[in-house]
Parts: sequence; structure tokens; C-alpha cells
Amino acid sequence: MNLILLGAPGAGKGTLAAYLIEKMGVPSVSTGNILREAIANNTPLGAKAKQFMDAGQLVPDRLVIDLLKDRIAEDDCKNGFILDGFPRTIPQAEELDKIANIDCALSLEVPDEVIEGRMTGRRVCLKCGATYHIVANPPKQENTCDNCAEPLHIRKDDKAEVVKSRLATYHEQTEPLKEYYGKQGKVKSIDGTQGIEETKRLAEKALGL
Ligand code: AMP
Repeated sequence: MNLILLGAPGAGKGTLAAYLIEKMGVPSVSTGNILREAIANNTPLGAKAKQFMDAGQLVPDRLVIDLLKDRIAEDDCKNGFILDGFPRTIPQAEELDKIANIDCALSLEVPDEVIEGRMTGRRVCLKCGATYHIVANPPKQENTCDNCAEPLHIRKDDKAEVVKSRLATYHEQTEPLKEYYGKQGKVKSIDGTQGIEETKRLAEKALGL
């Protein structure tokens, strides 16, 4: 199955994707993680993306479309993939439709007020991309990644003023994707406010897993 996770930044797409990898036996592809890795490695792509990401804006379509195409052409995606954070604009969705057949767009519904509360507690591992929350999903050892024992970081774009701008960008440019995939009859919406376990359960039910 080729699955897209839709939802505002901080809706829980990354956490759900990590769970669905095991359940579905396919990899998840997060354009945000690929871009953060590029920045950490000081690559030319990272240098181009950084200014947009730090300001809470979207990286230009051309850059992300190219990197996504390369990623899903890799061998591990041939039996399916979970997209977390892509597409984020209608042009991205149109390009994706040209190269892959999307089975379902699962939309995680979480109101802005809840998102704002969540983002400030988020911590990420720059090495493996795992995400935690200091209250809702803490690592076993404080500020340390469960997978690779690296210290955890607060993303620059999780700061309060940047979060507001990311939410505005989401409503303006990404939310219209619900209608785009709705017209193709592919959207399944679930409540993403009920905690991680309930969100997993609702997702499994919606996807028939
Ligand atoms: P995320 O980890 O998915 O929240 O992405 C973090 C940041 O990376 C976003 O705020 C954007 O600046 C950039 N980004 C990630 N995915 C995309 C995308 N599909 N299109 C444009 N920018 C993206």
C-alpha cells in the first residue's frame, strides 16, 4: 500500500508513521527528516533548505519533489511506502500522481490550540529521526534517544512564533490536499487528539490492518 499521512505539523504523523512501518512492513519517507539530515551534513541541498525551514516556510516544490522522487525510486519502496510530510502543496501532489499510485490519504485531525501545546514539548533525534514528547511520549532516559543513545534536540521550527507561521502555511497550502484526495475518494480522517494509543487504533481501523 502507498499511504500518505496528512495533517498539520505536530499532528502526530511522525509517531504514527514509526508505528505503521512495523504494522505494514513498508518504510516511511519523511521529507522533513531528509532535509534535516542534509542540513546536519552541510550538503548543498541543506544549505538551500535551511533558511525556509528555520522561518517555518515550505521549501520550494522543485527541491522536495526531486528528493522525494529519488527516495521512492529506491528498492525498499517497491512494495509500498508511507509518506510523512509529503505532499504539502497541490503541485507536489500532482507530481506524485505522475510517478506513483496512491491508495489512501489518512488525515490526522488536530485543532491548532492542541498543536501549539504539543510542539513546544517535542524533542527529536538528529541521527535516526525518532521523535519524542516530554510529556506524551518521553524517551526512556531523559533527553536521550531510545534507538541510538544520541542527545535529543528541540527543532528550531518548534519555537512558538515559528509554530504559528507553520500552522498558517499549513492551512493555506497543505489543507487543500484534503479536497484534492477527497475528489479521488482516497481520504480517511481520524481524530488525532486522543493520545498515541488511540490514534494508532483508529488508524489501524481506518486502514483495515
Ligand atoms: P516536517 O518535519 O515534516 O514538519 O518538516 C519540517 C520542515 O521541512 C517544514 O516546515 C518545511 O520547511 C520543510 N518541508 C518538509 N517537507 C516538505 C515538503 N513536502 N514541501 C516543502 N517543504 C517541506
